[in-house]
Amino acid sequence: MSDPQIEKLLIVQDRDTSLQKIEQELDRIPLERAAIEKLIQSEEANTEAASQALKEKEVQRHELDVEVKSKEAALARFRTQQLEIKKNDDYRAMTLQIEQTEAEISQLEEQEIELMLEIDTQRESFEAEKALIDKRIEVQRNEITLLGEREANLKASIDAAKSALDKCRDDADAGYLEHYDRVRTLTKRAPYVVPIEAHKCGGCHLRVSNEVSKAAMVPGEPHFCDQCARMVYA
Ligand SMILES: [Zn+2]
Repeated sequence: MSDPQIEKLLIVQDRDTSLQKIEQELDRIPLERAAIEKLIQSEEANTEAASQALKEKEVQRHELDVEVKSKEAALARFRTQQLEIKKNDDYRAMTLQIEQTEAEISQLEEQEIELMLEIDTQRESFEAEKALIDKRIEVQRNEITLLGEREANLKASIDAAKSALDKCRDDADAGYLEHYDRVRTLTKRAPYVVPIEAHKCGGCHLRVSNEVSKAAMVPGEPHFCDQCARMVYA
């Protein structure tokens, strides 16, 4: 024999769990958003580090260039000075200095060429990698937008879910409802009102006592699983 009060509680439970689902989903959204934002940040940090490394190489190249220019200026000075030297020994010493400076310049220029090649290769792979990263970031930002839309939809439906729950709680018997709320607090996880089938509780799936099993057949008052305390009916 079915208990009309249990029927009403089953509707309460149905609305209650619908509302819980919405609330749980809403709670998860900030976590999901934070996880995506963290991903974006790390992608951006990697890009920034690679770009910084490239910039440092450019600075090195510029420094080499400055050094070459200053040595070239020195070389020009030495050549002018040499024209005015009268003594053979001094002349030879200056020739040596000129040769040494020329050698230094060509060594610096070699380093510069090597560095320029390195920069080119590094820039090429940086740009290719950055294009991929930018695409990934775009997808991730899109996900954040979708999360925002989902959040707005859930927030819009939560009021409707709350009033649906309130409405069927108003229909239910106050005494049964009090037990329902107590069981809900105790068990923490739906369902709170469950059928007994083949002497087993539909919530914890353990065997209930014969007493409970028999009592559950009688409508008019609430009965409880003697294992998990959920409200039971037969
Ligand atoms: Zn149980």
